[in-house]
Amino acid sequence: ATLSVTPEVEEKQAFDAEKANLLVKELRKSFNSGRTKSYEWRISQLESIAKMLEEKEKDITDALQKDLSKPAFEAFISEVSQVKSSCSEAIQELKHWMKPEKVKTSITTYPSSAEIVSEPLGVVLVISTWNFPFLLSMDPVIGAISAGNAVVLKPSEISPATSSLLANLLTEYLDNSAIRVVEGAVPETTALLEQKWDKILYTGSARVGRIVMSAAAKHLTPVILELGGKCPGVVDSNINLQVAARRIIGGKWACNAGQACISVDYIITKREFAPTLINALKVELEQCFGKNPMESKDMSRIVSPSHFGRLVKLLEEDKVSDKIVLGGQKDESKLKIAPTILLDVPDDSTVMQEEIFGPILPILTVDNLEESFDIIRSKPKPLAAYLFTNDEQLKKDYVQNISSGGMLINDTILHVATKGLPFGGVEESGMGSYHGKFSFDGFSHKKSVLYRSFDADSTIRYPPYTPQKEKL
Ligand code: NAD
Repeated sequence: ATLSVTPEVEEKQAFDAEKANLLVKELRKSFNSGRTKSYEWRISQLESIAKMLEEKEKDITDALQKDLSKPAFEAFISEVSQVKSSCSEAIQELKHWMKPEKVKTSITTYPSSAEIVSEPLGVVLVISTWNFPFLLSMDPVIGAISAGNAVVLKPSEISPATSSLLANLLTEYLDNSAIRVVEGAVPETTALLEQKWDKILYTGSARVGRIVMSAAAKHLTPVILELGGKCPGVVDSNINLQVAARRIIGGKWACNAGQACISVDYIITKREFAPTLINALKVELEQCFGKNPMESKDMSRIVSPSHFGRLVKLLEEDKVSDKIVLGGQKDESKLKIAPTILLDVPDDSTVMQEEIFGPILPILTVDNLEESFDIIRSKPKPLAAYLFTNDEQLKKDYVQNISSGGMLINDTILHVATKGLPFGGVEESGMGSYHGKFSFDGFSHKKSVLYRSFDADSTIRYPPYTPQKEKL
């Protein structure tokens, strides 16, 4: 399970700033030729992606199995099918998205007409991450292509099988004079970040997000930062407990073993309800993963030994180790950690201070649910916030008073796959958004165009500014 340095990696390390510069020059030349701007080019690339998804589905789920032991079904529903759906939406909507948007003009410019023209930005960079390494690479690439840009994708070195597959597939299926993959880690990303891009979409941690934004600032390059954070789930007692428990499991352990940016990070519930909730989670976890979840093939492993070590450390902290009410088993050789629930860990414990990104779920208890608002607001704004309740007033209060990238009432994670909703963070969880039309917009410049005729040229705006004009 350990990462080995393969000859390909050694080769990749030769990618330096000079090579990055040549690559950007080459892609800029393609972009400047105007080819990528045409509807025909965009649609041909999108159709090639659709073909690739049909033909290489097995290779994709195999790579995800290698990188994360992601169950094939989970890999399909959470990655392949999501990319398929983004791609078919783009193919279907592209003409409509590209159409200039008419805007009403006023008497001041009469006679005139106005429109907003979406133009591609140029050469863009997508830096992706390892937890949904196929989806989080391809979804932004689809957006960049739809908007008519040349694009470089830098997948994550932490999911090497998917990274290498993406490099091969995009080379095989797409126009390499405008779409390229650069594999590698920090040195390669640093070399890429030294270049002038027209937009960077970065998915990953806030720490590296700051590095990306500083590099972008040098060239005044706009960024979309898709970051993470601690996503809370507030659970009321007046709920359908079995459904809620399953949906929490779906957004935690059945979602890449909790290694997801919108995974439920911690739960807040009423003190007297906590035992009932924990019991329901136990029952439903057993339904999903059996009596011995360490043997289950239906839960992903931890991506790397270093992330495994990080998670074990969270559990071994003095303040935390006696708070385990379920799970806690770990197997370093398989990089597996059982679904683990902690009850009432102190707020200054590392598990409550950092994003968990793994199969550990702290449950905090309060006397009344209004207290949960202060707990959530005491932390940086999360990427997602969840609430389970049948209380309409509580729903309203949550939506009005909790700021987060996205929000979902009575379920987890599904907002990310809801067509028409933008996906993105706020404050520490990111800036900008994408998905569907929002991806197209994110990779376009919205150019304001006003058309006038030579008719009705009023002289009022021109000097001399006579007293008669001033009276008007
Ligand atoms: P990371 O920031 O370490 O890595 C992401 C990318 O940045 C990789 O491609 C990596 O090669 C590159 N990178 C790493 N260090 C770098 C450096 N010093 N200079 C330049 N580039 C560097 O993040 P991660 O550990 O892979 O991801 C975990 C975080 O990502 C979590 O916070 C999670 O919530 C967040 N995330 C967000 C989303 C989202 O859509 N908002 C999705 C998945 C993960």
